Amino acid sequence: MQKKQLFTITTLLLLCASALGTTPKDKVKPAIEQKAEFFEAADVSVTGGPFKEATERDKKYLLSLPVDRLLTNFRTTAGIPTDAKPFGGWQDPKNPLRGAFVGHYITACARIYANTGDKEMKDRVDQLIAGLAECQEKFGDGYVGEFPKDGFEEFEKTGKAPKGIWVPWWSQHALYAGLEDAYNYAGSEKALDVMKRSGDWIKSGLDKVTDAQVQNMLNTEQGGMNEILADLYALTGNKDYLTLAERFCHQAILKPLAEGRDDLTNKHANTQVPKVVGAARLYELTGKEEYKKMASYFWHEVVEKRSYATGGNSIDEHFKKLGTEPLGAHTAETCNVHNMLRLTRLVATWDPSDSSYGDYYERALLNQILASQDPDTGMMLYFLSTKPGHFKVYNTPENSFWCCTATGVENPPRYGEGVYMHGKDTLWINLFMQTELNWKDAGVRLRQDTKFPEETQTKLTILESKDTAFTMNIRVPSWAAGPVVAKVNGKEEFKGEKKGWVAINRKWKKGDVVEVSLPMNLHLYRKCDDPKSVAVLYGPTLLAGALGTDKMPKSDQAKAQWDLDSTPVPMTVPVLVADANNLDSWIKPVAGKPLTFRTKDAGRPNDVDLVPFYTIAHQRYSLYWDMMNADEWKAQEAERAAKTAQSNTANAAIVDSIQPGEQQPDIDHKIQSEKSNTGVSNDISWRDARDGGWFSYDVKVLADQPMKLRCTYWGSDAGNRDFEILIDGKKIGEQKLENNNPDKFFDVDYPIPAELTKDKTKVTVKFQAHSGKVAGGLFKVSVVK
Ligand SMILES: [Zn+2]
Repeated sequence: MQKKQLFTITTLLLLCASALGTTPKDKVKPAIEQKAEFFEAADVSVTGGPFKEATERDKKYLLSLPVDRLLTNFRTTAGIPTDAKPFGGWQDPKNPLRGAFVGHYITACARIYANTGDKEMKDRVDQLIAGLAECQEKFGDGYVGEFPKDGFEEFEKTGKAPKGIWVPWWSQHALYAGLEDAYNYAGSEKALDVMKRSGDWIKSGLDKVTDAQVQNMLNTEQGGMNEILADLYALTGNKDYLTLAERFCHQAILKPLAEGRDDLTNKHANTQVPKVVGAARLYELTGKEEYKKMASYFWHEVVEKRSYATGGNSIDEHFKKLGTEPLGAHTAETCNVHNMLRLTRLVATWDPSDSSYGDYYERALLNQILASQDPDTGMMLYFLSTKPGHFKVYNTPENSFWCCTATGVENPPRYGEGVYMHGKDTLWINLFMQTELNWKDAGVRLRQDTKFPEETQTKLTILESKDTAFTMNIRVPSWAAGPVVAKVNGKEEFKGEKKGWVAINRKWKKGDVVEVSLPMNLHLYRKCDDPKSVAVLYGPTLLAGALGTDKMPKSDQAKAQWDLDSTPVPMTVPVLVADANNLDSWIKPVAGKPLTFRTKDAGRPNDVDLVPFYTIAHQRYSLYWDMMNADEWKAQEAERAAKTAQSNTANAAIVDSIQPGEQQPDIDHKIQSEKSNTGVSNDISWRDARDGGWFSYDVKVLADQPMKLRCTYWGSDAGNRDFEILIDGKKIGEQKLENNNPDKFFDVDYPIPAELTKDKTKVTVKFQAHSGKVAGGLFKVSVVK
């Protein structure tokens, strides 16, 4: 696990209901003229379909977590006695990433309360805020958190994070966002009070250091501290918080963006997104053009050049190289998309005529965010795997609490907030979702009835309006397979021929009905660095190949993501031998099952079922397919056959084999170790031992026969890797790893003398690092004849 490179999040405040560009409670009005704004989820009820079901599951999970357990780390840190059992995973009292979940939890409950009026949710918010206020009182100086505040002063001075805490402001910012949401959405005055005291505590620390020291500190992930403080300024009118917000803007990242330079390659992705959300919010509150440039430029770079078919971005949490789209088990961290949607909600309002923002919102909401929740248990993804044949790995309810679990619980309460935008006399229908909208300022209520994306139409009914004149703009999606036609009261027709909006300007009456056709077809998404690698979509819906449950682990819930991500793929993932220009000829709908298809005589070695990715769970899948013509397949088939024959011969020689670092093989081979670590690189697990440490396995041998120990190494490993290999205490080899075979795995065979296997069926193989050196990493250990 890479320290300080893991994630982020944020929550936040959004724009609002009454005046353009403000939350209902903002005292500071925007400094820019806003052409449009999204309605809050509180104004939009999601009344049916998969998004509503997901919200129900979310609520059930939130209610399953007792308040006293959520508060236990705060209380212990503040010195308030508690016997509540702490949670595990990232919420474990010793975990260096603790502290973010409770803030997101408060946000989720407050927003569900605002959406539905559910009192149980408000009770949760009130109980948590009371607990936090009590802890803040005990700390005495405005601080409240899940870890001691002692190291903050040093952190602000030197940039060195407090002992045992990796990313303190990242944890804190989520808590602060929760406090602000408790005030905005659940009406908790006490929450605002706790937040103001927190803001003053932050100020008291930053008053003692220079801007250069602050910038140094900001090299450590801090979530959206600039956004939180900008929001606090808007809520209170206190300019000190605005100054703090601007001091929290990380110039090393934001300045190049303002200059139109993409320096994002290999940067930790979700560390950056919230900083840019903060910049977008500061544009609204200050009108400074540079903030707008940062946000707009970043949005286009990430969406257009750095995203996957799902709308997600990042591999191993980092932005990939421009012009590449590497697949793997660790792609598309879910937090990133959560935050990209929040950014989209801000950026889209600056130019509402551009429907690209709605296109991205729809793609990412449907194919990543909705797809990230288990439709059975409500548990959530961290990474969204694009590795062909892998599966979704979900958090456990009480022992994971990853960053993506934290942002994950607030995704469902936000489903409604991307659906509609409004200006003074304009309404934009941005998404197609079963919802009811209450446009209070205009005195208009509207219902949208649709089973979209399972059906290719939606119906808008005006439930309340007093002949109000406004323009209704209905999005013409980029995927539309023909003109989008809007029929008003069964007669008058409006047509949108290309991407953009269908505009209907009239005086709207109660009972007016607009029926909209949304023609869909099958189409391909092409991987940016390999146009022969494709994903299949129907309209907006990404289709996944359902590949079954062969050799799935007993449970696909993991305490740590890494526990399951090196599970081998047991099958050959089919390739598609077919005509890319005539998809209908070989992708056939399955009768009676919406959005379900089967390939016909196109999959090699076998055809596949294609289903909406957002419904896939507990089975293996593929999103990207190698596509080729018959000749290319013939050549590849011969190559595959040769490889299979080769590996059959190799397998026949194997007496025993271990995947180091994988739990079961390690246990089966009686792992013993000192100063040993495990991890995953290139989707393969490894084990090493450091600083003179060692590890050993019991392996099978054939008695009295000479055989070989075969070790697999990563050819780019280097630096102080010098070790011995012993069998039952006798040295059989020495190895140095010094960039022996760059960017490739390689095998080394060490002969085992016959006397070491005499009368034995089992021996112990030990990898012993020289003093101060590293042994390994070992990516495979086999005994071969
Ligand atoms: Zn995350």
